[in-house]
Amino acid sequence: MANGLPNPLLTADAARSLVDSVDAFLFDCDGVIWKGDQLIEGVPETLDLLRKMGKKLVFVTNNSRKSRRQYSKKFRALGLEVTEEEIFTSSFAAAMFLKLNNFSPEKKVYVVGEDGILEELRLAGFECLGGPEDGKKNILLEANFYFEHDKSVGAVIVGLDQYFNYYKMCYSCRYASLCIRENPGCLFIATNRDPTGHMTSVQEWPAGAGTMVAAVSCSVQKEPIVVGKPSSFLMDFLLKSFNLETSRMCMVGDRLDTDILFGQNTGCKTLLVLSGVTTLPELQDASNTIHPDLYTNSVYDLVGLLQQ
Ligand SMILES: [Mg+2]
Repeated sequence: MANGLPNPLLTADAARSLVDSVDAFLFDCDGVIWKGDQLIEGVPETLDLLRKMGKKLVFVTNNSRKSRRQYSKKFRALGLEVTEEEIFTSSFAAAMFLKLNNFSPEKKVYVVGEDGILEELRLAGFECLGGPEDGKKNILLEANFYFEHDKSVGAVIVGLDQYFNYYKMCYSCRYASLCIRENPGCLFIATNRDPTGHMTSVQEWPAGAGTMVAAVSCSVQKEPIVVGKPSSFLMDFLLKSFNLETSRMCMVGDRLDTDILFGQNTGCKTLLVLSGVTTLPELQDASNTIHPDLYTNSVYDLVGLLQQ
């Protein structure tokens, strides 16, 4: 144990005692289940074993690019049977946040993000604008240019957006800023503030929603309401859907500041896997203040350790 910090490695005994002490495993997806469109080794075997042991499996992702339905399709395409009800995304959380706060269906939502957010908003009965469509638009900063914006926008949601180029930033950010600044009571919601993510199997990208949120937040000089991890908002919905106790859940993730913090904020046990963004030196660095209950290389280690 480097630096005397409390980061115990998952052993066979610890794996058995972990599995005995929980009824449900909550899995982050990017860096835990897959990297981009590539399944991480041993994931199907691990999920099969845990299901056979009677454990409830839930998938909690901050990646807002897809809706729950679209994620269910992705799981199936990778050979994993996971239902929409077992998936909790930050795109779904954003729509549910508006519902829970009685956001008027008369008002519109401006989206800096991709299809997942648009689909969840429409399923929840909200009218939205922006999204990928606005990635094709442009503005010219000419003299006396006045930017018209829809006064009926009552919320701006910012999520991961791969088309967030400079032109779109000017347009969307300006729009978001105008809405937030000039429409009284306009909500500024972020799906998450992750700075990076494994958007492909070979590299980490500066593409959590955090980068887009920082741009909008800087422009409007306002902090957003965060609905994804580590905010406990998603857990409230999860608990309404399943008869589970947080003390009998284990959050499995590859990020300390979102997954492990979310687990700790909501009273779950926590298991960090090193198959994603966090490295062992980062975990063991003296400056790290977030310590999981256990860590291991990847979820597949559970299979080997439980069979010892
Ligand atoms: Mg992750």
